[in-house]
Amino acid sequence: MCIFCKILNKEIPSNPISEDDKFLSFHDINPKAPIHVLIIPKIHIDSFNDVSPQMMADMTAFIQKLVEKLGIKEDGYRLITNIGEHGAQEVKHLHFHLLAGSRLKWGHFTDADPKNNL
Ligand code: 5GP
Ligand code: ZN
Repeated sequence: MCIFCKILNKEIPSNPISEDDKFLSFHDINPKAPIHVLIIPKIHIDSFNDVSPQMMADMTAFIQKLVEKLGIKEDGYRLITNIGEHGAQEVKHLHFHLLAGSRLKWGHFTDADPKNNL
């Protein structure tokens, strides 16, 4: 069972923020910003590659509510989902990172030449 399924099963503790019947949000254990929250579906889906458009619609509504709850709508935030090897996805259970709480940097994603494919 994957680590996020263990969190959903309460075999591993987490610091939850919100949940409904389909999704859970909780604080990332290794935050990269003052606010770093993970949003996951309650059923195991490997990545964005496998999510249905309907589930993404429901997840969008869930994340928008979470943003309201956190009070970060006006100041802004960043949503990221890492996919597969090149996306550097470590946990193979679909999750969105919600990063906020200060102005984020827009950085250096790879050592490969970014102009290679222009
Ligand atoms: P990925 O690299 O797969 O997109 O991100 C996985 C994220 O899960 C990382 O930011 C990592 O800190 C977080 N993470 C890994 N294990 C745990 C855990 O047991 N609890 C929590 N709250 N976050 C975790
Ligand atoms: Zn899982």
